[in-house]
Amino acid sequence: MNRRDFLQTAAAVSAASSVNLVSTSENASASGQSASAQSVPAPSASASSAVSPDAPPQVFRNPFKGGLSLPSLGFGVFRMPMDTNISQKLVDTAMASGINYFDTAYTYLGGKAEDLCARLLAKYPRESYFFATKMPPMNPGSTPADLTRIFDDQLQKSRVEYFDFYLCHNLQVNSWAHAKRVGMVEFLQKKKEEGKIRNLGFSFHDTPELLAEIADFHPWDFALIQLNYFDWIPYRSGEQYEVLRKRNIPICVMEPLRGGLLANLGEKGNAVFKNADPHATIASWAFRYVASLPGVFTVLSGMDCMEHLVENIQTFSNFKPITDAEKKIITAALEAYGSTGFIPCTDCKYCLPCPLEIDIPSVFTIYNQFKRTIDIRPRFPGIRQMELKMLEQAKTCVSCKQCLNRCPQKINIPEAHRQVVKDEMKRNV
Ligand code: SF4
Ligand code: SF4
Repeated sequence: MNRRDFLQTAAAVSAASSVNLVSTSENASASGQSASAQSVPAPSASASSAVSPDAPPQVFRNPFKGGLSLPSLGFGVFRMPMDTNISQKLVDTAMASGINYFDTAYTYLGGKAEDLCARLLAKYPRESYFFATKMPPMNPGSTPADLTRIFDDQLQKSRVEYFDFYLCHNLQVNSWAHAKRVGMVEFLQKKKEEGKIRNLGFSFHDTPELLAEIADFHPWDFALIQLNYFDWIPYRSGEQYEVLRKRNIPICVMEPLRGGLLANLGEKGNAVFKNADPHATIASWAFRYVASLPGVFTVLSGMDCMEHLVENIQTFSNFKPITDAEKKIITAALEAYGSTGFIPCTDCKYCLPCPLEIDIPSVFTIYNQFKRTIDIRPRFPGIRQMELKMLEQAKTCVSCKQCLNRCPQKINIPEAHRQVVKDEMKRNV
């Protein structure tokens, strides 16, 4: 099935509510992992009919503990459109292709993500999808009572009896200290024993040394880390991966595209990929890289439009593990991209709000776009004006440092703003 056929199928699927979830053992084998896991439970009597010849492609599945089989591509709800006319179609298309792992959090979409997810999944039987959410990081004022309040609120918003996957959100040195102080892990372990949590894990943004400490603190069921070829050495993601592999902790991946950067490595970087394979998208290289790593069970992607979702389904349903020769091509593309001095922002928005109302991630995103593309001024003067206005915000940073410790990427945000101002002045000379 080509992409156009699938787009048509996706539109048709969006109108219907049936799902066909099948295990694709060939592709699971291709990922280098065993394909022995059972299929996910049949979603419903009406949906368990034979797969039609026009059925959309299915992403490959990976075995997980407890006899589960999980989709290699998970749906990150972080960027889910709030407009349910759009998001319902995305969810229906995902479910029809076997993408039935939904990763959300208490804090996503301004606290509305769990409720949105519940509404979008309401028409599906509870056993046909995996619901993942997270306990937000604690702060100096947090108490153990906050854990109970938040967890009960999550159950209510999510309208579920249990969470399939539950994580301590964004563990780093400070949040880990507060998590320990309020007894977060012990609290969640008790919830697991009560049957409210089926698999307990954590998401992480810090050093491999701290990761090792956290990994040894509890017999975790899984961990969610930032993993992609770009961060492997500078962000020490490769070392983090090894910490988890050594302890046999199953790995869920976030930021496979590093906030979109790896879907566009600039003209020179993209050219290396296109010379190697004119038909492959730039993003598909990044997805294939992480999904080929042993121990990775699901790669999360925040797919906020049908085009990205369909493209990703194509990558994961016709999955080809990355080869050693292709890893050399990735290295060459990185080298071609390398000298641009970008700001390693992933658009997570954890640094907000800024008291000066600077839209920090937008400033950095636009700056990075300028770094890797040709000057668009002559072609799109209107857009350029809007972007310039956004970049102007960098000048208003007063270095109060309120945002500094909030950035998981350890970006020195005031310093980065100074870089934006300096480069923008040069550009306009
Ligand atoms: S350091 Fe700058 S960007 Fe950060 S909070 Fe203060 S004014 Fe805002
Ligand atoms: S500056 Fe840091 S915290 Fe803010 S959006 Fe970028 S990566 Fe996230």
